[in-house]
Amino acid sequence: MFRKNLKNYLAGGCIIPLSTSMAATREPTTEFPLVQKENGWFHQDGRAAQLFNLDWKASTDDPGKMALSYIRQHAKLLGISDSQVKQLSVSSIRKMADIAIVRFRQNIQGVPVFASDIAVSLMPDGKIIYVASTVVPLTEDNLVTTFRAEISKTEAVQAAQTWLGRPLTHTQIQRNVYVDEHKQPHSAWNIVATDKGGDEWNVVVNQADGTILDARKISLEFGSSQGYVYKPDPLTSAHAKYGDPGYINDHGKDTPQLKAARVLVDLSDITQNGDGKWQLVGPRAHCITQSYQHIADYNSCPVQTNTLFDYTRDSRYFAAINAYYHIDRVMNYVNTELQLPLYPLQYTGGVKYDPHGWREDGNDYSGLPPGEDWIEPRSRYLLASGIIEYGGGSNNHGGSNIDDPGVPAGAYTAMPDMAEDAAVIVHELGHGLHDWATNHHLSNEEGLSEGVGDYFAGGYIRDMGYSGYNKLQPWAGATNPDNIRVFDWYIGHQYPKDISNSPHNAGQYWSSCNMAARTSLGGKLMDKAMLVGLAMTGHETNQAQAAQAVLIAAQTLGFTAAQMDTLFKAYTHTCTYPVKKPG
Ligand SMILES: [Zn+2]
Repeated sequence: MFRKNLKNYLAGGCIIPLSTSMAATREPTTEFPLVQKENGWFHQDGRAAQLFNLDWKASTDDPGKMALSYIRQHAKLLGISDSQVKQLSVSSIRKMADIAIVRFRQNIQGVPVFASDIAVSLMPDGKIIYVASTVVPLTEDNLVTTFRAEISKTEAVQAAQTWLGRPLTHTQIQRNVYVDEHKQPHSAWNIVATDKGGDEWNVVVNQADGTILDARKISLEFGSSQGYVYKPDPLTSAHAKYGDPGYINDHGKDTPQLKAARVLVDLSDITQNGDGKWQLVGPRAHCITQSYQHIADYNSCPVQTNTLFDYTRDSRYFAAINAYYHIDRVMNYVNTELQLPLYPLQYTGGVKYDPHGWREDGNDYSGLPPGEDWIEPRSRYLLASGIIEYGGGSNNHGGSNIDDPGVPAGAYTAMPDMAEDAAVIVHELGHGLHDWATNHHLSNEEGLSEGVGDYFAGGYIRDMGYSGYNKLQPWAGATNPDNIRVFDWYIGHQYPKDISNSPHNAGQYWSSCNMAARTSLGGKLMDKAMLVGLAMTGHETNQAQAAQAVLIAAQTLGFTAAQMDTLFKAYTHTCTYPVKKPG
């Protein structure tokens, strides 16, 4: 398989690579890593893969023409010649509230080039806000190639079946130009079909001689691997409470109860590394080990030959699988069900997370009693890099010697690893969604972004049957009351007089008011209005201004009069935001 094309597809969809044995029949090509610069990611030859922070505006026209005028003036940056620009065609235009995303594909003599795509996102005034480019490098000679087409569609399907060794049904065939790793173009039949076992395949057959140019298993739903996770946390799935026999952290040790609380799930779209081993790297989530000073002592991302990720919480790998599952699920929900194209702006591919990325070590501070050491696991979304770090506390090299549950005030040794709890996993991802939706204009005025994180975390775990309904962080925060936040904080609090400067505290007002609306309207409707509304806000937006934006978004999204009324009442009756009903 050609890695170049695998990468193209991973950026936009859900592709499972071939099994090791089949992949081995293809000649591997060398892939150089992308280079990060201030305004995007670039290939070694200087061609852009991703661009943002662009100070460029088209003169006002329809979105397709404005996007094309950007490409025309930046053809060299994108690695495409002027004559190739003339052969581009628009493949789709998608709007997300005010944002139009215009996609182009390359063509040779009117035939689409396999796996080519340039996506330009712009505002109605012509301001280009984001470009994702998977240009297939072409020479001028390529454009005048004469193709021989000697294989019919039927013969091509037969060739694909022979190569796969299995019959195919539900066949869709398209004529493409396939450019191989030697930059040679081939006229080809691009076949998408299903085999007997329900697996979907994409096979590209050379029209000249029937040879297989490219083949891969594809999937829109689930990958071929599984793993054990907490869904959403060990207490909910077991109907237990923290402190019940077997349900305490105890330095990250496993117990029969905590082992039994795990649930077997599918891990979607994970990929194989160069050695054919499976790793938690997919189009929506991507496990990394970040060299942070306190955590650099162990690798928390599993890489293995078999496809079952079966670990208990005392393994360094458990949190990685847990986080992969929940991040992948939320990103799939946002992009597929809510139809909002939200993905990290800082890099290409799935959301990068370090399952044991951040912990604070008591040894760094003075004043600890002799012989005592404590570790505080903490989690964060990093705005510049777009990476999420989940705290690893007492598990594996945690170093704590304070007994659980006898934890002295201010020392949080008893806290489990943060990525054992979907509430924490999704809270941090919520910051990311807020960041990406606003194109790096996230506001934490009045704790807005903390409220956004809590809102998405709360909605997610409630939908999974979370029993603590109005309380957040049942497992990861159980031993420290400071970490528990609520969804009925509007009781006894008013906006703006009770909104303090403590972000997590104030954020509870935002999450509570919006959760009240979500309970009445349903998650799908409210989650979408929230994200589109936030996308319109700036980095100094306060809670009331954000509420106004969500109302406007809701109207744009086609809320009925009754639904608008419900949302308005949640903001003005349940809560006291000074908002106006959109006209
Ligand atoms: Zn937060």
